[in-house]
Amino acid sequence: MNIVDTTTCLLCGTEDETRDHVFFQCRYSQLCWKGIKDWLLWQNESNNLDVVIRWIERRKTGTFRLEVCSAANIALVYHLWRIRNDVLWNHKLLISDRCIIRIIDEVINRCNNVDVNKLSINDRNWPRKTITR
Ligand SMILES: [Zn+2]
Repeated sequence: MNIVDTTTCLLCGTEDETRDHVFFQCRYSQLCWKGIKDWLLWQNESNNLDVVIRWIERRKTGTFRLEVCSAANIALVYHLWRIRNDVLWNHKLLISDRCIIRIIDEVINRCNNVDVNKLSINDRNWPRKTITR
């Protein structure tokens, strides 16, 4: 069953499609990571899956901000895979800005379910609801 007849990345069309390329090294993925990191004012490197998994593991005992960054990590990996598959099956590539906005909306929606009384004053209005450019 040959579903994909090429090893070329479906997001950029120029490099071989490997796990680390699709999720971290691809130009498309890097634009999305940059957008999410800029939104969260987040300095940490997430340049391979091992780092992301460590983020997810730390989330269990972390602060609210760590939980939000982890949720954004998870959402971005999930969406990159969905976007890649949408190119494969439907020949549609979502522009990276739309991907970033979707993730922000999803993370904000999750944050809205948190009891603000359990958050510090500094965390109550974080993360911002929009990207500042
Ligand atoms: Zn690529």
